[in-house]
Amino acid sequence: MALIVMKFGGSSVGSTERMGRVAQRIVEKKRQGDQVVVVVSAMGDTTDDLIDKSKEINESPPAREMDMLLTTGEQISVALLSMAIHKLGQEAKSVTGWQAGIRTEAVHGKARITDISPDRILRWLNEENVVIVAGFQGMSDDGEITTLGRGGSDTTAVALAAAIKADVCEIYTDVDGIYSTDPRVVQNARKLSAISYDEMLELANLGAAVLHPRAVEYAKHYNVNLVVRSSFTQNEGTSVREEAAMEQGVVVRGIAYDKNVARISILGVADVPGVLAQIFGALAAAGIDVDMIVQSGVQNSKADFSFTLSLTDRSRAMDVIAGIQSVIPYDEATYEENLVKVSIVGAGMVSNPGVAARMFEAISKLGVSIKMVSTSEIKVSCVIAAEPVQDVVRALHTAYGLDTADSVFVGGPQDRR
Ligand code: ADP
Ligand code: ASP
Ligand code: MG
Repeated sequence: MALIVMKFGGSSVGSTERMGRVAQRIVEKKRQGDQVVVVVSAMGDTTDDLIDKSKEINESPPAREMDMLLTTGEQISVALLSMAIHKLGQEAKSVTGWQAGIRTEAVHGKARITDISPDRILRWLNEENVVIVAGFQGMSDDGEITTLGRGGSDTTAVALAAAIKADVCEIYTDVDGIYSTDPRVVQNARKLSAISYDEMLELANLGAAVLHPRAVEYAKHYNVNLVVRSSFTQNEGTSVREEAAMEQGVVVRGIAYDKNVARISILGVADVPGVLAQIFGALAAAGIDVDMIVQSGVQNSKADFSFTLSLTDRSRAMDVIAGIQSVIPYDEATYEENLVKVSIVGAGMVSNPGVAARMFEAISKLGVSIKMVSTSEIKVSCVIAAEPVQDVVRALHTAYGLDTADSVFVGGPQDRR
């Protein structure tokens, strides 16, 4: 008998008919003799639809009320899924995140889980129930409802798996595993049988939506046995695990891209010590994360700076920069949108010279100019214009020998935005 956490994403429960098939899969697992905790996302486009509705009412709604609204999506799913399981003759109990004992920081929109008290889940499991937990939500110590950030149901699943010491955490989604890149962009993307926690963490942070970055962080920290697989097929999925158990000698394991990028340039800043600390200190104080930073062209004791950040923070960041001009004089501040960050990731990169050069060459062959670059031991990222991103990802995929001979992608239909 195994203790299993099964997580189903939005498209896997996109309709009542799909919900029924998911229920069947869960009941089969339970009837094999396993104990099953299920984590489920909101149905299909529900979260996006709720966001659209809120914007019709208020362009910038209070973060607290957004959490009140968005958490309802997952609550609908758990109740319906429990009913579908009951219909198959299996006892099941649905719970919200807070009923499941999930405590978070007192932050709205992207709270971290601080603690889980799984007593109620464990008791119900022992009474032969399937327990169905609403993903993406928790409660702060002062009783406020919080959400974990878009895609956060993955994190609920992995954190629960760690808390109840599950044998495995299975993430069921609309593709049948983790691929060398998004299989919806590159037809002959390669399905990976395994990927290391560190590589997956980089890919997730760099835009690969298949797993929420914090889910991978938890999995690594608590050594959770994590598997990503399809809710539409029985195909074997991809295992995320420690690097020691991995196939060695792979230079680039995967390619990711992120369109949530803007670049801000501050031109003609006095080149004196402490300027950077003041500018980026002011941005940090406003809760704005900065990614890549480049200083260029020092002339007449004045320098130009450029940095990238989330597109969604661009307008607030420009306000902060306008606000400090009286303290840190500069000539002009400008911004650029319609950008994308393309990244290659692989643990084998560290001992292989020329990996970045090959990336630059493949991009330049397409006539695309690279605006910014950043590197770490296991990744190289380039910011480029958004337009040719699919061509760039395909070219990189070929350049690093990742193409498979034929198209291997088998997944469900992607019927969400
Ligand atoms: P869910 O609703 O199940 O959480 P997501 O949309 O969050 O599903 O994640 C699955 C999607 O991730 C796939 O449909 C695919 O387009 C995308 N994706 C991006 N990069 C990858 C990758 N390297 N491997 C597999 N899927 C990827
Ligand atoms: N429903 C939430 C979202 O769409 C959480 C999730 O699906 O993981 O982001
Ligand atoms: Mg997801």
